[in-house]
Amino acid sequence: MVCRYGDDLKLMIEEVRQYTKEGKVADYIPAISLANKSDVAVAIYDGNDTCFSEGNSNQLFTLQSISKVLTLALALMDHGEEIVFSKVGMEPTGDPFNSIAKLETQVPSKPLNPMINAGALAVSSLIKGSSNDEKLDRLLSFVRELSGNPSISFNKDVAKSEYDTADLNRALLYFMKQHGVISDDIEELLDFYTKQCAIEVNCEDLAKIGYALAHQGEHPDKNYSIVPTEIARLVKTFMVTCGMYNASGEFAIRVGIPAKSGVSGGIVGAVPGSIGIGIYGPALDEKGNSIAGMKLLQLLSAKYRLSIF
Ligand code: GLN
Repeated sequence: MVCRYGDDLKLMIEEVRQYTKEGKVADYIPAISLANKSDVAVAIYDGNDTCFSEGNSNQLFTLQSISKVLTLALALMDHGEEIVFSKVGMEPTGDPFNSIAKLETQVPSKPLNPMINAGALAVSSLIKGSSNDEKLDRLLSFVRELSGNPSISFNKDVAKSEYDTADLNRALLYFMKQHGVISDDIEELLDFYTKQCAIEVNCEDLAKIGYALAHQGEHPDKNYSIVPTEIARLVKTFMVTCGMYNASGEFAIRVGIPAKSGVSGGIVGAVPGSIGIGIYGPALDEKGNSIAGMKLLQLLSAKYRLSIF
């Protein structure tokens, strides 16, 4: 298929693959540590078809923190801004994604934003449903709709592997329960959260999700709205200010695209009014972002002038 991205993607993938040697696959979730460190893939969706994917683009991987963007949108659709932001703030942190430090110093003790683990756990507690199965079904339907892929599901092994080892997230949950941010049963909420993080996609799915967010929450192929415009705007703003954890400032300067990463090595990018980008590269830098993916986005942004600033 003819596309203006031409052979560039192939060259860019080969250029950035060398950086995977310097990265590390996340090992605190045992099932993720099995990923192939040298994998790199990209897909770009421009609304006509997935006209470009290069590299290991059929590789499935789990959303991990990318799911935080989607649960935030769903929680906002379920409850509105007032309730959601009574539980979670709007400010970036300079701390790692799983840090507990700011929970202790913030008064009242609420997580600073929905893109760090504490904030995402609080948001997950807001997803409507009478059981975890119902909540997960609602979230999966939402992700299937946003990606246009009805076969998306979650990886049970990855979910269990994280659930069995998630004591840091348990600690965040106990802290928040003590301070009245959540009132849920902790194991139940962690069960839902680890399944949400284990939703499995490939780069093309991510590119379509990015495209939907880039286009005010419109379905990637059909002509109807999945996410209200105002919520799509709000979510993209969080992606700019907090989407790459404590690398968000540098990312805004070097790349300038609303984006969200996960420790499995995925990154979703949403260029407002334009393309959606899906990236996979499980070798991570020291802040937990895909090392080759960050470089690739930098190259793409420079070449096609994608920065929103
Ligand atoms: N499931 C992961 C966790 O809670 C998500 C973290 C991430 O992708 N940064 O630790």
